[in-house]
Amino acid sequence: MNFPIEHFAGVKTPFYYYDKNLLQKTLDTINTEAAKHPAFRVHYAVKANVDPTVLGIINQSGLGCDCVSGGEVETCLKAGFPASKVVFAGVGKADWEINLALDADIACFNVESIPELEVIDELAAAKGKVARVAIRVNPNVDAHTHKYITTGLSENKFGISMEMLDDVIALAVKLKNVKLIGLHFHIGSQLLELEPFAMLCDRINKLQEHVESMGIRLETINVGGGLGCDYVNPDENPIPDFGSFFDNYAKHLQLREGQELHFELGRSVVCQCGSLISKVLYVKEGLNKKFVILDAGMSDLIRPALYQAHHNIENISAEAAGVQDTDKYDVVGPICESSDCFGTDEVLPVTKRGDLVALRSAGAYGQIMASHYNCRAIPASVVL
Ligand SMILES: *Cc1c(COP(=O)(O)O)cnc(C)c1O
Repeated sequence: MNFPIEHFAGVKTPFYYYDKNLLQKTLDTINTEAAKHPAFRVHYAVKANVDPTVLGIINQSGLGCDCVSGGEVETCLKAGFPASKVVFAGVGKADWEINLALDADIACFNVESIPELEVIDELAAAKGKVARVAIRVNPNVDAHTHKYITTGLSENKFGISMEMLDDVIALAVKLKNVKLIGLHFHIGSQLLELEPFAMLCDRINKLQEHVESMGIRLETINVGGGLGCDYVNPDENPIPDFGSFFDNYAKHLQLREGQELHFELGRSVVCQCGSLISKVLYVKEGLNKKFVILDAGMSDLIRPALYQAHHNIENISAEAAGVQDTDKYDVVGPICESSDCFGTDEVLPVTKRGDLVALRSAGAYGQIMASHYNCRAIPASVVL
């Protein structure tokens, strides 16, 4: 990536830089590829990034949004997303969050348990409304991803197991203030192969037949998100392969006449357009190692500490200056935790105090997960 480093002079570091052009190109690709399948509708999983400019661009491109909290529902409505394109998932919806979504008349609640279904019915009844609901089913598909981001195995807090589905459907049909409109799935995140999605389709095909045998017709199937990004080669693969992703669903999933297929893409929409830009505070020589100490740490980007995630590290000042010589460094942050480390034995151009470093592919689950740990400020955004 060519960083507009001339615009970075004087900006307080660390900050998140978002490349508007890449975001727009990514959204254009999503829209072009999804439009090949008239029944497909794409939502953006808001939890990946809520920068106001980023959200505005996504809204402009016509995507709906998938929320997992009342705060996210509020954020989306404020950003201008129509309530008719807002869906609300999550295992622990509080009463105020359900009420807020009922008042806004959102498109659908993705329900994750029997007691939640009962509470939505009760709160909707109090308002004289009928809430549209989809049941989040746990399809027991192994997403082959990190254990903290796999969500579709049966021993998982998310969703309702297939064995319990009949009871939940019977209840939804009985309750007067909920209307069952669909089934919802989400098997995990950062999936780089299509096979688990094809397995998900097989499960859904069987479930649909079963549900139809109970006399239920579903308006929507929602398959969640999960498409991964290339964290190792962000310049070679700046835009995920949405074409193959959508075609795989078209090939394997048997949709019914008039039925819509919903997607909730988070990471794949915003990952590559964002980088965390940080300044080198010190280059410290140990006995056998050299450390590059950044002014960004795990409070700004927690993914390496939380998921052992990899982010490419680039010294963009040295690149701009054409520095050819390289050295090997551990690249660490200033936080008082040993896990506050962005890379070990990284080969970088010879690095000095004051250089700007980019931690690449940080647009998803980066800034939004920043914290005040060590009384640090939340990094600002620069969108160019
Ligand atoms: C997080 C989440 C998503 C988005 O997942 P990505 O891997 O970022 O695409 C979609 N749906 C639900 C219910 C989620 O919780």
